Amino acid sequence: MIRLHRPACPNPIALRANYKNSENKAALEGASNGKCMYCESHVSHVYFGDVEHIKPKAENRFPHLEFEWSNLGFCCARCNNAKKDQFDENCPLIDPYSEDPSEHLIAFGTIMRHKAGSERGAITIITTDLNRAELIERRAMRLADLQHALDACYRTSNVALQNILLHALEAESDSSKEFSLFSAALMAANK
Ligand SMILES: [Zn+2]
Repeated sequence: MIRLHRPACPNPIALRANYKNSENKAALEGASNGKCMYCESHVSHVYFGDVEHIKPKAENRFPHLEFEWSNLGFCCARCNNAKKDQFDENCPLIDPYSEDPSEHLIAFGTIMRHKAGSERGAITIITTDLNRAELIERRAMRLADLQHALDACYRTSNVALQNILLHALEAESDSSKEFSLFSAALMAANK
């Protein structure tokens, strides 16, 4: 999970009737580069993704927030299914559109950890199942690719060339890339 910036709602009138309005959904999707707001999986290629209610819209929860732009996000089906209607107001899930998740979460190898003492980090990881086997496997593949690319940079003895290659590799941990929190942590550890 990384910090996202909520775009303005492109079509507030349509939002009032349909929270899944395609124009508005596309804006949310663009804001996270087509990635899930929770797990950073690219969801657009294989699956269209869900418009997520950060606070559940269920009748006994927050039905008045069903069409509230600030309560919507872009999410993959797996995180959405894991989360369901869970949301504890006393220990709210981290909202990457309004706060920086790095204050609560750390990418440690292929595992998402919460920062010491962060109950909100811990509950977010459990609720959205951020260490499910499928995610750990895909993060491991991503990090292995990055490791190979890093090794290739160090195969040359030409320092200038090495710097160019390393600089180019920095783009691999750009926020637009899948699992960028994990790639950035590996890159930082190799500096
Ligand atoms: Zn997800």
